[in-house]
Amino acid sequence: MSETVGFVGLGNMGGPMSARLVRAGFRVNGFDPAADARDALTEAGGTAVPKLAGAVAGAATVVLMLPNSDIVSATVRDEGFVAGPGTVVVDMSSSEPLRTRELAAELKERGVTLLDAPVSGGVTRARAGTLTIMTGGDPTDLARVSPVLSAMGTTTRAGDVGSGHAVKALNNLLSATHLLVTSEAMLAGEKFGLDPEVMLEIFNRSSGRSGSTENKWPDFILPGTFDSGFGLRLMLKDMGIAVGLAEQVGTPDPLGRAATELWARAAEVLEAGADHTEIVNWLRKDQTR
Ligand code: NAD
Repeated sequence: MSETVGFVGLGNMGGPMSARLVRAGFRVNGFDPAADARDALTEAGGTAVPKLAGAVAGAATVVLMLPNSDIVSATVRDEGFVAGPGTVVVDMSSSEPLRTRELAAELKERGVTLLDAPVSGGVTRARAGTLTIMTGGDPTDLARVSPVLSAMGTTTRAGDVGSGHAVKALNNLLSATHLLVTSEAMLAGEKFGLDPEVMLEIFNRSSGRSGSTENKWPDFILPGTFDSGFGLRLMLKDMGIAVGLAEQVGTPDPLGRAATELWARAAEVLEAGADHTEIVNWLRKDQTR
């Protein structure tokens, strides 16, 4: 009989990730308070359950793909979260590394192992099952969930529990900072009279290239769709985690902090559900000059 995986959080990422697990032959019991997210899992061939308890009961592995650490903590502390001893909980959300460590210690007392396995690659690579997965935890525990993780992408162990969450936040600080400066460069070039497509072609063959010039600008900004599926406020959350980490360990982060402040200003102005690629629209309206 195929292994049962509980999946909590079936949103932009959790939806396609849980569908990959179904395709790989796992029995997936998924929970999300949003009915349309549950319907999508049913359509993909999984079992959508109306309550958290239904996703956790009988699952040897429970995957969490939730917005933030507050919701992750509340979920595993919920009375419906009754995980049998030996259950492995894999937090694939972009959570706060120190809180992940605390939660792992708390769950250990209940006989439950917590691992972190956040991802990069966005909705496109979640659909394709080709995410970059950065893990934290004991190698033996990670080996146990390796078939589950490899159905969703390629895994690299970052270190002990919490390490995946640390490197994920740092990655997004890089991503957000280069998206902002790429957007500044693109707007300046356009105003000067350069063709944006030609600029991107040149950047992508030069030292200015990045995920922003290779994917975000050509796929979501130039076409004007702004539909990457990664919310601006989720990006800001990750930047906050990264600069918080730099502060905790006492390393310099003047640029990271400045970028985070600018993204925070954008978050105040843009509508609640804005995609993170809409940072350029905020920049276009920026009144600082
Ligand atoms: P999302 O907002 O689309 O999905 C989150 C889902 O969690 C929603 O469907 C929501 O209904 C559900 N949810 C909220 N509270 C819940 C609860 N208590 N129990 C069960 N479900 C609950 O967000 P997303 O884009 O899928 O992001 C999920 C996580 O992945 C975040 O931590 C984000 O930072 C990270 N992430 C997102 C992307 C991306 O491109 N979207 C990429 C990498 C990492």
